[in-house]
Amino acid sequence: MDTLDTLDTLDTLDTLDTQTSIQTPTDWHSYSPEQVTGKLDTSDQGLSEEQAAARLKKFGENRLPAPPRRSGLTRLLSQFHNVLIYVLLVAAIVTALLGHSVDSGVIIAVVIINALVGFIQEGKAEKAIDAVRHMLSQQAVVIRHGQRKQIPAEELVPGDVVFIQSGDRVPADLQLFKLKELNIEEALLTGESVPVLKQTNPVASDADLGDRTNLAFSGTLVTHGQGMGTVIATGAATEIGRISTLLAEVHTLTTPLTRQLDSFARWLTGAILLIALATMAFGYLVRDYALGDMFLAAVGLAVAAIPEGLPAVITIALAIGVQRMANRRAIIRRLPAVETLGSVSVICSDKTGTLTRNEMTVTTVTSARCSADISGVGYNPHGTFSCENKDLNLKEFDEFQQLCRAAVLCNDAQLTQRDEDWTIEGDPTEGALLVMGAKSGINLQELHLTMPRDDLIPFESEHRFMATLHHDHLGNGIIYVKGAIEAILPRCHWQKVGEDNVNLDADYWNLQQELIARQGKRTLALAQLEVTEAHRILHFNDISNNLTLLGVVGIIDPPREEAIKAVAECHQAGVQVKMITGDHVTTATAIALQMGITESPHTLTGSQIEQMTDEELQDKVESVQVFARASPEHKLRIVSALQARHHVVAMTGDGVNDAPSLKRADVGTAMGVKGTEAAKEASEMVLADDNFASITHAVEEGRTVFDNISKSILFILPTNGGEALTVMAAIALGTLLPVTPAQILWVNMITAVTLALSLTFEPTEPGVMQRPPRNTRSPILSPFMVWRIVFVSLLMVAGTFGLFLWERSNGTDINTARTIAVNTLVILEIFYLLNSRFLTRSVLTRDGILGNPYALYAIALVIFFQLLFTYLPIMQLFFHTVSIDAAAWGRILLVGFILFLAVELEKKLIHGPQNKK
Ligand code: ATP
Repeated sequence: MDTLDTLDTLDTLDTLDTQTSIQTPTDWHSYSPEQVTGKLDTSDQGLSEEQAAARLKKFGENRLPAPPRRSGLTRLLSQFHNVLIYVLLVAAIVTALLGHSVDSGVIIAVVIINALVGFIQEGKAEKAIDAVRHMLSQQAVVIRHGQRKQIPAEELVPGDVVFIQSGDRVPADLQLFKLKELNIEEALLTGESVPVLKQTNPVASDADLGDRTNLAFSGTLVTHGQGMGTVIATGAATEIGRISTLLAEVHTLTTPLTRQLDSFARWLTGAILLIALATMAFGYLVRDYALGDMFLAAVGLAVAAIPEGLPAVITIALAIGVQRMANRRAIIRRLPAVETLGSVSVICSDKTGTLTRNEMTVTTVTSARCSADISGVGYNPHGTFSCENKDLNLKEFDEFQQLCRAAVLCNDAQLTQRDEDWTIEGDPTEGALLVMGAKSGINLQELHLTMPRDDLIPFESEHRFMATLHHDHLGNGIIYVKGAIEAILPRCHWQKVGEDNVNLDADYWNLQQELIARQGKRTLALAQLEVTEAHRILHFNDISNNLTLLGVVGIIDPPREEAIKAVAECHQAGVQVKMITGDHVTTATAIALQMGITESPHTLTGSQIEQMTDEELQDKVESVQVFARASPEHKLRIVSALQARHHVVAMTGDGVNDAPSLKRADVGTAMGVKGTEAAKEASEMVLADDNFASITHAVEEGRTVFDNISKSILFILPTNGGEALTVMAAIALGTLLPVTPAQILWVNMITAVTLALSLTFEPTEPGVMQRPPRNTRSPILSPFMVWRIVFVSLLMVAGTFGLFLWERSNGTDINTARTIAVNTLVILEIFYLLNSRFLTRSVLTRDGILGNPYALYAIALVIFFQLLFTYLPIMQLFFHTVSIDAAAWGRILLVGFILFLAVELEKKLIHGPQNKK
């Protein structure tokens, strides 16, 4: 079927059934751009908003079908796939065969409740992470109604005119009609990783996908240049939409830490099983217990000792970290970044927009004759040019007029007014130049109409300039070039004085640039070259040496106040901050001083880095704070050098060429606003507001997550240890078990998922950003943690077993003594939960006791269950518990309180201020 016939007019298009029209195979590539725009009833001015809205309704959102997810049932079943559960199931069967149906029932209940809690928690964690991922929607630049604007890529419709440039993921299938050196990597579709150079001529209708060089396919990556195209297919109708198998994304909730903990847990399970078997053999052979009883005791021991809740608690802690970071504008793309962030020791940051506000204003303009100040703030195009406080009459300064024309024409930004506010679309540097042009009295629209652009060389950070070629209607041609002074000066032979060209005085310009840059202003030089009417295509050679320099502008870009504070916080937290910028060394140094990055900056420039070997760079890299005129390749070498010095590096980036260094860094950090899709995809984290302060917040949250994981481990392991040791002590001493296996299972069931989980919600401790970063090579269980685990386990046994023996020696019957022992165990856990809220600080404060509402809810819940366990007849029947009196509760609370004080005393003695290093 001939597509063009089918889509003869837009009416036809609109009346066609959506499904059939968008799924019809097309051969758009064999038609000229004019045919395509004609058939889709659009033009290079784009669709109107009404047309776009109607088509959006018709064709639906430009979104690919969601990848298949694991079903709820699979997720639930996977909860049972765990060594511990197998152990428990075997135990349940054997206990049932031995006729202990209550124990068997309780074991089954533990298994089911554990699986349900795991299922719900994992679901929540996945949701939290998905929600955050959705914050990263792709944007597209379209022309609608002649106006260039940014919209969510989902709103694109067939007929839209889209602008793409290096670093972008192509947002829909496009037919290209205008481009400059547009290279697109299509490995996603063709498997070929060498980028394809695109062009605008029709190709044969039977051309393969890889040969359709006049099309750009949704999902492929622009590696170089820029282009414009008409949307020919969106959503499921795109080429990538047809190959939906490629889209199955795998989201895992595992990280190096969870894997490390998983293997630790497996190892622990093995060890515990061995100990349980040994204890069983010992009890049976040495202490003459009945084999059935010993089997049950061994089951109780194993279940008591295995920290079955730990993996779920860690996953939840990480997911909560992701959510908290998102609330502070740092979006985590890969879960492991949460834990790595806690150990970051160096942050390498871009300057423009991250440390500074990216709100540019040209305040100085210097020509060969004089230097003028320009008044006015922000993008409001009202202001004057003055020299030594006297307003200048620009008519007397032809070079300024020429410079402003160059600034307006060699420019891709747009200045728009909405109510009272002036905003720009596009690069803020270029926006600032437009505003300068408007202040000089230029009518921006009119100038663009009288001097249309024929060709351009786009700005790329490798060559640091941009050039455009224009002709007026009389055929007079001119090339305008703007860029970094080092890129422009060597191309100039002349400078403009009034209407004349005179020989260039490079020393003068270098001095002017230095004077401007010392104030922390960005500098940009502008130059021009007159060409013939026939000269319609712009080549690099055209601008190699004969340009006329018009002048240099100085642009202020004030530091972000919050970033200045964040830099100071980083320094306190032992995290070094390094600025890596494409800007001039003098500008960068001035900004670094203003931001407090350093008091006496050591600097390196990109060209100096090029002269160095990797070893030389490693020697210098730690002491240098400012890297200027640095390109993406330099960034990669800097990260590698820092890592060779055992640093954990967070590195920011935005361009397509930053991807390798972002991947290489421990926490690659892309800019959410000005970053390219390529940079975002290479990163672990995306900053929603491009703000340096958000990185610092993320580091703080990362440290909090790690603290909370440590707190959970420190809570869970000694409680399991205490329970297990109680059983072992009874067997070793040949006394009756103080807690029956069913009772132990009960305790585990109600405490593991309530109390421990509440610690993952702990707020950040105050001193978190005052201590040095965590060493990633240190083990999860530090010597301090091992000590605390042993200490508290012993306290738990002493409390539970001690009170049990005391009760027995005072003639209390076994069931009452056991009820008291179980309640003691639980109360000890509750008190220890309060201790565990702070690792080393005392919790004997209002905040210490009441600061985490989740802990209080968990405690209330556990107390409620314990009362049911003790007083409800059916529970008494199942667990052989009996009602106990107030005096018994008094004794239980006393024991709990003693443990609480003992742990607080331990904190004071070992971690008190006098013991701080
Ligand atoms: P950072 O790397 O910290 O974001 P940056 O934005 O200054 O710093 P680049 O964007 O690589 O780094 O810019 C480097 C230099 O190129 C600037 O100092 C400026 O002189 C020049 N430049 C920047 N933007 C443009 C542009 N749109 N057209 C021409 N030249 C530009």
